[in-house]
Amino acid sequence: MSLLVVGTVAFDAIETPFGKTDKIVGGAATYIALSASYHVNNSAIVSVVGDDFPQETIDKLGKRGVNTQGLKVKEGEKTFFWSGKYHNDMNTRDTVDTQLNVLLNFDAEIPKDYRSPDFLMLGNLDPELQLKYINELESRPKLVVMDTMNFWMDIKLNVLKQVIAKVDVLTINDEEARLLTGEYSLVKAAKQILETGPKYLIIKKGEHGALLFNKQNKVFYAPALPLEEVFDPTGAGDSFAGGFIGYITSTNDISFENMKRAVIVGSAMASFTVEKFGTERLETLEEKEVEERINQFVSLVQFDIDLVAN
Ligand code: AMP
Repeated sequence: MSLLVVGTVAFDAIETPFGKTDKIVGGAATYIALSASYHVNNSAIVSVVGDDFPQETIDKLGKRGVNTQGLKVKEGEKTFFWSGKYHNDMNTRDTVDTQLNVLLNFDAEIPKDYRSPDFLMLGNLDPELQLKYINELESRPKLVVMDTMNFWMDIKLNVLKQVIAKVDVLTINDEEARLLTGEYSLVKAAKQILETGPKYLIIKKGEHGALLFNKQNKVFYAPALPLEEVFDPTGAGDSFAGGFIGYITSTNDISFENMKRAVIVGSAMASFTVEKFGTERLETLEEKEVEERINQFVSLVQFDIDLVAN
């Protein structure tokens, strides 16, 4: 099964209570593609970068089996730059700077072999571009998953709603679900969002895990792995999305039951990303570590219970 990933490839500057980075490689599509690459061997990335972007990173994606023909390097232009600062709880952050740069002229082409992908992951990106790439596909994928963020809700809400209406799964965080709906209750927010198009909604709650909802009022909850040290939550949401869609692609099963397993795989992938700054941890994982981490999740949430009637 094939997977197409569209989204930003970026430079990030991050400040957390544990330290500060200069420009490091980030971007939604980078995290998604790296994370998915531990589960899928037929994937491609579509994005644009400037000529300041390191070829070494493109090669690393290629070595992980990601087709990079659709990653366009634009001469004389600068890569998208985002900078964020985390609060002490590490669950909330402020965007300090967003420089769209090369994103203003995002004209990357989908590689020929990926114009009818089995699965499509729309990473965080200008919703107009998300829509453009859905429309460019030659056939409808089995599942379209999209992520977005408050930045696009603030400046392009109308077109964002049009994209949301077209996808099967929307992944957003709790703050964004509240912003999108005006509802504080996540259950009410989920109901409202599911009435606007998507069949499934995943609300990510940082260190408090993730909720999967469907239109029939079914809910599944996966915790985040309790970790001793969280260095940098950047990319956790994207790594989650990459693990989720990677698992769905590899199993070719879009049932709610399988989505529950995909949520666990996504949570496991996110738990690696936060252990180091940037994409470092996702670049160096061993397959065995991934398997062990998923098993850790299974034992974290599994229990037997006997309800004895009195
Ligand atoms: P996450 O922590 O999973 O929400 O994703 C963080 C990544 O999103 C960073 O690596 C940024 O480069 C990228 N990012 C930040 N702002 C935007 C934006 N407005 N559009 C697309 N990607 C963004």
